[in-house]
Amino acid sequence: MSPVIAFVGLGHMGAPMAANLVKAGYRVVGHDLVPDAVDAAVAAGVEAAPSAVAAAADADIVLTMLPAGRHVRALYQDAGLLAAARPGTLFVDCSTIDVADARAAHQAAVAAGHLAVDAPVSGGVMGAEAGTLTFMVGGDEAAFARAEPLLAAMGKKAVHCGAAGAGQAAKICNNMILGVSMIAVSEAFVLGESLGLSHQALYDVASTASGQCWALSVNCPVPGPVPGSPANRDYRPGFAAPLMAKDLGLAANAVRAGGVDAELGLRAAALYAAFAEGAGAGEDFSGIVRAIRERSGQ
Ligand code: NAD
Repeated sequence: MSPVIAFVGLGHMGAPMAANLVKAGYRVVGHDLVPDAVDAAVAAGVEAAPSAVAAAADADIVLTMLPAGRHVRALYQDAGLLAAARPGTLFVDCSTIDVADARAAHQAAVAAGHLAVDAPVSGGVMGAEAGTLTFMVGGDEAAFARAEPLLAAMGKKAVHCGAAGAGQAAKICNNMILGVSMIAVSEAFVLGESLGLSHQALYDVASTASGQCWALSVNCPVPGPVPGSPANRDYRPGFAAPLMAKDLGLAANAVRAGGVDAELGLRAAALYAAFAEGAGAGEDFSGIVRAIRERSGQ
């Protein structure tokens, strides 16, 4: 018999992920604090539980998709999820959270007699709906092996990155590259504008030369060269700027905690925090090109 899944956090990401587990034949018992989120999940075949604890008590695997580390730790420990679950339950946290919180949550789960992995995702809501997420997984081999079939039902790839917290570490390191490179690409386009260089000319050169990167060739921050990029639809996300700001904030915490000399990562975190609180609140993260252009007086 396939394992019973408790799914806590049925928001933008959690709802389609839970729906894909149902489609794959799992019995999914879900909970969210927002009644509308529960109703939508029920319409997709998820059974509603009266509480997260009730869902966890009857499950073989507990999956969480929550906003931040404090929510995960509060549920695991204060709310009693770990205590309510049967010994040997697998805890899979797919939220993007602090590495330190992920390690603490993992430790608490293991101390309570369970298995645990951190398994944050990339691919966004579209990837969650299409079942094409990439999971970055931290935890021991046995826990990863037990999580794999479940992750395969929601994604196209699961990379075992190392011990507890390694999944979160991979996620924030990758997104620090992405945040910094999007700013670099955007600054280059604005510099090109000031020098009278067309967007297409810069794109044609950089995308086939050493400036090539995902921020340029897939999510190009100016309209035109890459028709599918959010710049062509007035910067409708895509990957929303507040989520980039969140991930860079987590990276900046880890940079400071580790005493790492990551000047650009810290600067990118500050720039995205300001952008996400202002004009970028509802925009794709590539919209930062407009803030750079504005500050340049162009
Ligand atoms: P969301 O806010 O839409 O969903 C989170 C859900 O958790 C909400 O429905 C909320 O009510 C619920 N929740 C919070 N505390 C709870 C509790 N104690 N018990 C039950 N439910 C509770 O957020 P999202 O966009 O689905 O993102 C979830 C996680 O995935 C975040 O960590 C985010 O950083 C990460 N992520 C999001 C995206 C994206 O594109 N949205 C992409 C990659 C990773």
